[in-house]
Amino acid sequence: MSANETTTDTRELQRRDSAHYMHPFTDTKALSAQGARIVVRGEGVHIWDSEGNQIIDGMSGLWCVNMGYGRHELIQAATKQLRELPFYNSFFNTSVVPAIELAGLLAEVTPPGFEHFFFTNSGSEGNDTILRMVRRYWDIEGKPKKKTIIGRKNGYHGSTVAGASLGGMSYMHEQGDLPIPGIAHIEQPYAFTLGRGKAPEDFGREAAGWLEAKILELGAENVAAFIGEPVQGAGGVIIPPPGYWQEIERICRKYDILLISDEVICGFGRLGRWFGCEYFGFKPDLMTFAKGVTSGYQPLGGVAVGERVASALIGRGSDFNHGFTYSGHPVACAVAVANIRLMQREGIVERVAEDTGPYLRKRFLELGDHPLVAEPQTCGMTAGLVLVRSKSHNEYAPFDAEDGVGMVCRRHCFEGGIIMRAVGDRMIIAPPLVMSHAEIDLMCGRIRGALDRTA
Ligand code: PLP
Repeated sequence: MSANETTTDTRELQRRDSAHYMHPFTDTKALSAQGARIVVRGEGVHIWDSEGNQIIDGMSGLWCVNMGYGRHELIQAATKQLRELPFYNSFFNTSVVPAIELAGLLAEVTPPGFEHFFFTNSGSEGNDTILRMVRRYWDIEGKPKKKTIIGRKNGYHGSTVAGASLGGMSYMHEQGDLPIPGIAHIEQPYAFTLGRGKAPEDFGREAAGWLEAKILELGAENVAAFIGEPVQGAGGVIIPPPGYWQEIERICRKYDILLISDEVICGFGRLGRWFGCEYFGFKPDLMTFAKGVTSGYQPLGGVAVGERVASALIGRGSDFNHGFTYSGHPVACAVAVANIRLMQREGIVERVAEDTGPYLRKRFLELGDHPLVAEPQTCGMTAGLVLVRSKSHNEYAPFDAEDGVGMVCRRHCFEGGIIMRAVGDRMIIAPPLVMSHAEIDLMCGRIRGALDRTA
């Protein structure tokens, strides 16, 4: 068979895959030996692989297919726009209708004080944009020394040089000499390890205090901003303790430091509010968004620019010398507009808050009686648990890193028809927001089955 001929044969697809395709975040040699799982179709909350297996997508693709697969409204929006105008740029005093519409719609659904939106293709590019915006802002303010941005260990802000530097993943920093200068990190507010035995509110204050300590160490006159995900997603669905974000906000205001909420996962309804900062009750100066803005039907990201930064950049700045060919891509923007309108029509954010989020919590917390499971937790439509070797009362015996227990459990999940992600010894989910009660039951039943097989 010629390499160019279309095939549906799994072995042949796997052979071609390992011959030419370099996958992100993947050991290509190991993947070649085992063969990639090839996903060919999606409908509702399910995907199908090339072997015909039907699998519940407990990760919404990659935290993005929030409105589920096969939504004809989104498909129609893309095809209509492709016919009308597949591309035109927004540089050099031109604009395109879908980008204008999307920016207007975002002004409606974002918290008060956000009236301006910069478009990128991804969350990583959104955070690159933020780094440049923040530094430009302080230049305009006459405080060019304020350059350092503080992020958190295990935070994830993307894979570009700036994104990976802002993030706190040591396995990314080890490759490519990261982080770049002008970026510092503090510890993550992980109660399971760092808050053990402490009252949640005390731990919330203590964990936020690490930011104040870092600012004092660096000198507030050198610190430009703090960036964090409302709930750390790729770091393992780390839900912050109560009071944490209010205290972070207070510290940022005290030292005149911009507060950035990376809403790439938490934005667009995941936590039962349009944005994660609204769920936790803090007001950022800038927000990064991506993923859920189009439910993953098109690549699109961006920055919501709050009043303080917008008035400097727009009011007192000159050109902001930054942008991408596909900033405000008409097809991606048309899909985002259709997606947000669909979310509004279906009241999906309210449904997560009042119905599916609480139901997921009820069912997911029941997994806490499993001998392998410690601390199942949920927040809206995302959840995580820790795998432990044994437990008695609240004393947990952890697995060793070499056990690779998360990967074993992940494999059992997949074989049992549920996609769950492993982050070390944490197992996490972020299913489509449209998941029904019956589908939540089925998902939690399959997770329990995988835990049984892992034990
Ligand atoms: N920020 C957060 C919180 C993310 O979870 C991600 C991706 O998972 C990114 C940024 C990067 O987004 P992208 O992969 O679209 O570049």
